[in-house]
Amino acid sequence: MHAQFFGHRAPDAVFGPRWQELVEDGTPEETPDVWWRERREALLRLADDESPRYVYDPEVVTARSDEVQGLGPIDQSFYAVKANPHPEVLRLLERRGLGFECVSPGELDRVFEACPGLDPARVLFQPNFAAPAEYADAFERGVHVTVDNVQPLAEHPDVFAGEELFVRVDPGQGEGHHRKVRTAGAQSKFGVVPDDLGRLRAAVDQAGATVVGLHAHVGSGITDESTWAGLVDLLASLAAEFPAVRALNVGGGLGVPNASGGRPLDLDALDAALGKAAARHPQYDLWMEPGRYLVAEAGVLLARVTQTKTKDAAAYVGLDTGMNSLLRPALYGAHHEIVNLSRLDEPPAMTADVVGPVCETGDVLGHDRRLPPTEPGDTLLVATTGAYGASMSNRYNLREPASEVMLAPEPA
Ligand SMILES: *Cc1c(COP(=O)(O)O)cnc(C)c1O
Repeated sequence: MHAQFFGHRAPDAVFGPRWQELVEDGTPEETPDVWWRERREALLRLADDESPRYVYDPEVVTARSDEVQGLGPIDQSFYAVKANPHPEVLRLLERRGLGFECVSPGELDRVFEACPGLDPARVLFQPNFAAPAEYADAFERGVHVTVDNVQPLAEHPDVFAGEELFVRVDPGQGEGHHRKVRTAGAQSKFGVVPDDLGRLRAAVDQAGATVVGLHAHVGSGITDESTWAGLVDLLASLAAEFPAVRALNVGGGLGVPNASGGRPLDLDALDAALGKAAARHPQYDLWMEPGRYLVAEAGVLLARVTQTKTKDAAAYVGLDTGMNSLLRPALYGAHHEIVNLSRLDEPPAMTADVVGPVCETGDVLGHDRRLPPTEPGDTLLVATTGAYGASMSNRYNLREPASEVMLAPEPA
């Protein structure tokens, strides 16, 4: 019936041969001129006032947002709010012209609270397994809504009647720095597979809705620049069955330098690849929705050493916070550079696991880290924690996670 959908290109042809398991705890290069080295004194004072705490540098967010906004072929970028919903981060990005990608009513509330007067056309609502009332609420607010399942349309046509929709497509295979961040393929709960788009279109027609855009987001920490151009081609081929489609949203997942265990993403190469894809499909607006890329490097987690311990050959440095503030190492085996900020210029003298106070063996922020002689009272810094740090924090063990503070811009 919909030959187009059955005949779409195999994911390997779309994405090339680069699908691979990236190292889960690789050791990225050190970054000597990173902002937090230059602002060490200010950071140590902040840690003395309160620990643990996340500190964000607005200048890094500004620089990254200018890079993203400089991607010529992209008509609109939407910041994935779940990476870091701090109100000052949202306001800064709003001023730089970004829109916002929200996945829950709470994120919608946060965005409109932080940015009063924001045009709802700059906001996407793209939940997963959401209740019908959440869609109805989003239509009420006037934001763009993305569905990724046929069932809500079939069961609650009244909610979607007369509305414009985006559809999230599962291109069949995910990509990213860890199995748990790949968001495509049958093992992932997201999206509608191309073979089901005919059924989806029938449900959309039945409900009296219109599909005006197609969307795909295949994972996080991606450093193959051809990924998003491949998604433009795939979505454009599927859009042939949806005559009202105006925009193709190729998702986020832009890899961050020195944090994804591989080489950094080359934005010029990304721009060039997207430019060619845009030239192949000039009838569509192209959208993107980076999260991590915009904020990861802007954030550090500061924590105080509470105790150190040795057990046979093992050594531990214990901090006043752990997986309750930063879940990524426990959840994904994510690697974050850790330094002793109090003794930044002293040479390494010990190898230790850096752990938190939570009652879980998995409460480790970094394995086998080289540190200078480290003592209780020292301040350690966990780098590249501006994305999915505070936003994933939790109160497990009833330990409050780190608070957050934004640095004032550096005096010129
Ligand atoms: C989380 C998410 C993003 C952002 O991913 P990053 O890896 O932070 O860039 C974009 N789109 C959707 C649908 C997401 O769920």
